[in-house]
Amino acid sequence: MGVPGEDAVETEGRPRWWADEMLGRLARYLRFVGHDVAYARGLADEEIARRATDEGRTLLTRDRRLAERTPGAILLSSPWIGGQLREVRAARPSARFVLALDRCPECNDLLRPLAGPPEGSAPVGPYGERPRHGTPVVACPRCGRWYWSGDHAEMITRHLAAWLQGSADR
Ligand SMILES: [Zn+2]
Repeated sequence: MGVPGEDAVETEGRPRWWADEMLGRLARYLRFVGHDVAYARGLADEEIARRATDEGRTLLTRDRRLAERTPGAILLSSPWIGGQLREVRAARPSARFVLALDRCPECNDLLRPLAGPPEGSAPVGPYGERPRHGTPVVACPRCGRWYWSGDHAEMITRHLAAWLQGSADR
């Protein structure tokens, strides 16, 4: 979650969501495309409804009762990420679904340019991959993970395209 005030206003095509705890994978992919997605486990329904409303976030949930008690919530029916992404797009046609790589998919914090690798280490991606020489690297100020445009980013783009076209669902 971002620092309050830092990015509290919804920008064009970048919705602010609250993803309920059944939607962790969807939350990560919405962050990949630059959406501001709050996600937390173990909260009571009334707490989720209150915090989503207080923070100006639209709740995404597959729980009909939770959706009914949260103003403006979007009730998703698909159990698969492809169907869920298509339902989110249908409910919010102005939202962008293009890889943005400006938010940490794990923490939701905005990523910052990494001036140079820390002393004695080199950037390593989530699958052990390393950036090509000269590739700009961004870092998460919360968890310290590094990200860049490369093979992993291309794979995410391919998955998103297949899911949004409906040619793959999981
Ligand atoms: Zn992070």
